[in-house]
Amino acid sequence: MSGSDNPEKFSPAPHPKPRISVLKLASCDGCQLAFLGLGDKLLDLAGLVEIVHFAEAGPLGPLTDLDITFIEGSLSTPEDRDLVLSVRKESRFLVTIGACATSGGIQALRNLASGPLLPSLYPSPEVIDFLDLSTPVASLVPVDLELWGCPVTGEQILEALRSLLFGALPPAQTDKVCLECKRRGIACVMVTKQIPCLGPVTLTGCGALCPSFDRGCYGCFGPAENPETAPLARRFSGLGLAPPEIARRFLFINSNAPAFLKEGSRWQEGDPHE
Ligand code: SF4
Ligand code: SF4
Repeated sequence: MSGSDNPEKFSPAPHPKPRISVLKLASCDGCQLAFLGLGDKLLDLAGLVEIVHFAEAGPLGPLTDLDITFIEGSLSTPEDRDLVLSVRKESRFLVTIGACATSGGIQALRNLASGPLLPSLYPSPEVIDFLDLSTPVASLVPVDLELWGCPVTGEQILEALRSLLFGALPPAQTDKVCLECKRRGIACVMVTKQIPCLGPVTLTGCGALCPSFDRGCYGCFGPAENPETAPLARRFSGLGLAPPEIARRFLFINSNAPAFLKEGSRWQEGDPHE
């Protein structure tokens, strides 16, 4: 999360019905669907705020004089960049929703490619206009609140809305998935089943969803505070993962998040300890 440099905006919304927009850049729409998945709560919300622009849900109003803008997706095209620059000027609060908008998402894997990818994917790549890198929104403009996850949960969005409508940021989530497993009484999948799991270095917010189904966490909520990635990577090695497999664990949904990028890169060319 990054703070704002303008304390005046941390006051209750000035419009009788706060003006909200939800935008999409390069993304799969999954985080917008988490928004829509709020169901009845979204209908209640629609009575309290004015949903000015939310293409996935219908409204296509002008992107001006907004109280809160939620953005899904990474900056991947010149249109994405222009839209973000313009909506930042029109929004009191700018909130990124999901791994794409917050860290560049899975499409940021193209940042790591050694050569041009498009010719192998599209028959006429020259018709596609895109930026050199896929990057998070905060790489271009100040962001007031970053919600991690792939996708985010509806509860994260509601909590953010509740707080921002009262002119405050929600409390920062800093716990790791590991802690959530302990709270829920879920047996550690790495200790009991030798399943590689990124839970020790990943922010919680999902309720330890994957370990609750006997699966290792793959880091979709991004790096937690002070993530001890190096010992975890060595543990993965001890569990039998080859260096490229260890690299891929970190270079996946949040490959562009600095802590994961650093650790994954260390293992790309082999075991860094040899
Ligand atoms: S963060 Fe995940 S669910 Fe959300 S838009 Fe990106 S790929 Fe889709
Ligand atoms: S356990 Fe990890 S990968 Fe699974 S939903 Fe939670 S943060 Fe995402």
